Amino acid sequence: MEVKLLSHTPDPERLIAIAARSCVSKRSAHELISEPDEALRRSLNKVLESGHESVIEHAYFTFSIKGISRACTHQLVRHRIASYSQQSQRYVDLRDADFVIPESIRNNGEALEAFRAAMRGAAEAYSKLLELGIPPEDARFVLPNATATNIVVTMNARELLHFFGLRCCLKAQWEIRALANAMLELARGAAPAIFERAGPYCLYKGICFEGDRECPLYEKYVLRRD
Ligand SMILES: Cc1cc2nc3c(=O)[nH]c(=O)nc-3n(C[C@H](O)[C@H](O)[C@H](O)COP(=O)(O)OP(=O)(O)OC[C@H]3O[C@@H](n4cnc5c(N)ncnc54)[C@H](O)[C@@H]3O)c2cc1C
Repeated sequence: MEVKLLSHTPDPERLIAIAARSCVSKRSAHELISEPDEALRRSLNKVLESGHESVIEHAYFTFSIKGISRACTHQLVRHRIASYSQQSQRYVDLRDADFVIPESIRNNGEALEAFRAAMRGAAEAYSKLLELGIPPEDARFVLPNATATNIVVTMNARELLHFFGLRCCLKAQWEIRALANAMLELARGAAPAIFERAGPYCLYKGICFEGDRECPLYEKYVLRRD
């Protein structure tokens, strides 16, 4: 997969700091724009530490994601506080579509052979249906979960932290975990203070929603938190 940060709110941390400071100041946010960096940095840290998370919703991040499976995008779009634009299987001819191969299959010769045969069969059936005049919106019914796709996603910083909390977790499925980790790296580059401690919920908040005491991160981040 390829993941790029297409765009984000300009100077996201400064914007959040100004918005936070405007909550406790007689001055409006636009009057606080010229506040010195140090004062704003303190406001930002306070917001991040206090869990006053609605303030960080002001910052938006837009990612372009190329070559992930439909199985992965199905999981991604379950995150509702976001905007999506996904390559259409109705308007794009997918006769030369790529298929994402999981490592477990790639590393097993016999499984890989079976997988490739299934993908070939699906691709041939798809082409045949189009030749028979079946519209792409119906021909696509034979395409598998492995079919590669492209998607643009925009999330605000609060939703990103939640998304990373759930999907950087070792219990998350490998492909969406890889996606979440790639997005986290890019988000951290653009807004290091906001995303410094981001990651799976155990690391971010010391909570394990999976209740998995066998997980290598459980002892490190949940039990040793106190
Ligand atoms: C490891 C793992 C396994 C999973 N397995 C399954 C599975 O087997 N089957 C399955 O169906 N799903 C599964 N999911 C998906 C999961 O149930 C959620 O749909 C997905 O993670 C989106 O998370 P969310 O609902 O917290 O957040 P988002 O949609 O990202 O929303 C963020 C937050 O906003 C609030 N919110 C959003 N919409 C509403 C609303 N309508 N009402 C009230 N509050 C709202 C909630 O607080 C929510 O946490 C799995 C997810 C993970 C991480």
